[in-house]
Amino acid sequence: MSPALRVAERFRSLKPSVTVEMTERVRAARLAGRKIIALSSGDPGLPTDPRIVDAAERALRAGTTHYAASLGEPALREAIVRRELERSAVERAVEDVIVTPGGKFALLTALMGVIEPGDEVVIPEPSWVSYGPCVRLSGGTPVPVPMLEKVDRESLERVITPATRAMIFNSPVNPTGRILCAGELQCVVDLAQKHDLFIVFDQVYADLIYSGTMAYPQALAGGFERTLVVDSFSKSFGMTGWRLGYLALPPGMAKSVVKFIQHSIYCVPPFIQSAGVTALELAGELLPRYRALFRARMIHAAERLSAVGGVACAPPPASFFLFPSVAGDDVSIARRWLDELDVAVMPGSAFGKAGAGHLRLSMSPPDDELDVALDRIARAGIGR
Ligand code: PMP
Repeated sequence: MSPALRVAERFRSLKPSVTVEMTERVRAARLAGRKIIALSSGDPGLPTDPRIVDAAERALRAGTTHYAASLGEPALREAIVRRELERSAVERAVEDVIVTPGGKFALLTALMGVIEPGDEVVIPEPSWVSYGPCVRLSGGTPVPVPMLEKVDRESLERVITPATRAMIFNSPVNPTGRILCAGELQCVVDLAQKHDLFIVFDQVYADLIYSGTMAYPQALAGGFERTLVVDSFSKSFGMTGWRLGYLALPPGMAKSVVKFIQHSIYCVPPFIQSAGVTALELAGELLPRYRALFRARMIHAAERLSAVGGVACAPPPASFFLFPSVAGDDVSIARRWLDELDVAVMPGSAFGKAGAGHLRLSMSPPDDELDVALDRIARAGIGR
């Protein structure tokens, strides 16, 4: 084929999503008849509550089948503002919230909104696999910083240059389940102020906390006006397939940033947004139930994993991920468990070098399946 007819460099240079690839491999193996137990997915595995499904159906039947406002439906944006206030005590104008098709697109929208070609974006690792690629898609250069245990001011200062434009922080952290405390986030805000940087804050696991307290950079002194908040309905409400999330921006930015939505997807389907309104109405009932479910699974699985030679596993304070350390090569162990045990887990190094020597196990399968996977792991161990 003529070299002129190839895909653009921006995609050629992009690595595929390791987590999505793993999900695809599991799907293919299942189609081939293998009974894989997937502890590898970022999907909480919760069925969407039927009342949320009903809300979407009612909206569809009522004829909300047309283009909607690019910023999002006012009812949903108002509910999001109330929710942000409840959780972080941050008061925000409805005009500063944009509804997006999932948290991933909220992240891309945020970066498209503030990154100029050649800007550097600091990303502490281990971290979610899409941060770097989204930075590249927006024309920037990702600058990973190893930061497994805690936010380290010196390490951050070392990588900040005049080209640095933003830092991406995620709490609770995927893959470790750690919650960044207020002190750590204040350090992030202080640095951002000192170097005049944006903070992109991904809080998609903020509803799944079992111990400790959530802190928000947008709620800290100096944080509000430079923090772009990324959130999603996927993890909190078992709504990954609905593609619903949002971006809460510093005052006044949304009317520019929304042009990216206008010229790309136009809008999130209005009936999906109706489902979102119902999900938020049910948050007080659903979230405690989901938290109890995941907390019990995490404690049980962490105990069983800790009994496996060469594995050290403490249940984290949040998320639905365990991130045990393993005395061996994480990639080989994950590969062997998939090939020989039909159990899919993510190698920690998929989340950056700082994640090496760990595995990420999602507590998304039902209890009985999870136990079968843990039985197999207990029998096989981490191997040679
Ligand atoms: N941020 C983090 C840290 C995630 O783990 C995920 C999903 N794996 C997302 C954002 C995006 O989720 P979604 O696009 O489904 O809202």
